[in-house]
Amino acid sequence: MTAPWQTQVSLKPFNTFGIDVQARYLVHADNDDAVRQALAGAAERQLPVLVLGGGSNLLLTRDVDALVLHMASRGRRILSDDGEQVVIEAEAGEAWDSIVQWSLAQGLCGLENLSLIPGTVGAAPMQNIGAYGIEIKDVFSGLTALDRQTGELQEFSLQDCAFAYRASVFKANPGRWLILRVRFALRRTLEPQLAYGPVRQRLQEQGVEQPTAQAISAAICSIRREKLPDPAMLGNAGSFFKNPVVSVACAERIRAAHPGVVAYPQGEDGVKLAAGWLIEQAGWKGYREGDAGVHSLQSLVLVNHGQATGAQLYALAGKIQDDIRTRFGVDLEMEPNVY
Ligand code: FAD
Ligand code: NAP
Repeated sequence: MTAPWQTQVSLKPFNTFGIDVQARYLVHADNDDAVRQALAGAAERQLPVLVLGGGSNLLLTRDVDALVLHMASRGRRILSDDGEQVVIEAEAGEAWDSIVQWSLAQGLCGLENLSLIPGTVGAAPMQNIGAYGIEIKDVFSGLTALDRQTGELQEFSLQDCAFAYRASVFKANPGRWLILRVRFALRRTLEPQLAYGPVRQRLQEQGVEQPTAQAISAAICSIRREKLPDPAMLGNAGSFFKNPVVSVACAERIRAAHPGVVAYPQGEDGVKLAAGWLIEQAGWKGYREGDAGVHSLQSLVLVNHGQATGAQLYALAGKIQDDIRTRFGVDLEMEPNVY
């Protein structure tokens, strides 16, 4: 059955910033045929298409004069199990964290550090989601996408995806591929990734000496609930800027003026600076212009206090970028997809 086309729909419930813009058309596609039919309908009407997952990495700055294709497919399965390595597959519309929690409940390890990231499975490869020292590239097995140029299904291996820090071939070619389902190679034995201090500290506070994957997940969920605003209460899209990777010389110059700079070596020649630290030092923490603001606990997160428009949030982000460039000589790149 063809999924119905809704007209002039507010996208407010469909983006975590809670921006109230209208979509000209909206279709919820819960299987491959529905996706293909929606794309064919858009082509017939000569309409552009915006693919939407959970809307948690999106800044909508205007009405969307297009078909918004909301990925609503569900399904998860174990594809192979050799006793140690287990390959799972999940449909694009599945909520990311429900797959993480399901995999943990099966006794599988590998996704625990990526707990409680909002959004869908299909969007996760877009920016190679990452947290607490793990990115999906570390557990990625493959994905199936629809090539919108040829209309054919295409299989992607790890190499094909060109994953990098918050980047992929999909992000570099917006709109080219529609991701339908993703596979992960997980393990029955835990190799704990505890490089990030707050996770070790939380486990220690909880008296956990030999953490299980479930314990790591629970510790990370508790940290995230304390530190990050819940989009249901305060609109946001998580980190608004990527952490800049600068030269060693640039990092040393900043350190000379600001000995407390938060910085981590990245490869041999680069240093990753904590963008949140730079923004906080520049005095933006808790700043507010109307309803567009910077979160009071985490400067990397821009927030919508209620009625902010996407354009107002975008303008605020631009001011922050200008100020950080002037003060530190560092360019901040926006992380969410701006429409
Ligand atoms: P959407 O916002 O719906 O879409 C994002 C982009 O992907 C858009 O360009 C869209 O067109 C495209 N897209 C969506 N689905 C598909 C598909 N099936 N095929 C092709 N293109 C598609 N990110 C991290 O990396 N790490 C974190 O720790 C993290 N924490 C967050 C915390 C909070 C509180 C919030 C609000 C966000 C956080 N994010 C984090 C950002 C965000 O949750 C992720 O990037 C997530 O993967 C976005 O998924 P989504 O389904 O909401 O994507
Ligand atoms: P944090 O723990 O306050 O750390 C600040 C920054 O320092 C982080 O951005 C992190 O970089 C980096 N960092 C900390 N310890 C590190 C280590 N041992 N090695 C290398 N880099 C280290 O960060 P936070 O803001 O609370 O976020 C915690 C984790 O969740 C981070 O991994 C962050 O990326 C992720 N997160 C992402 C989003 C998003 O929307 N993208 C939103 C919330 C949280 P990295 O960011 O490169 O890890």
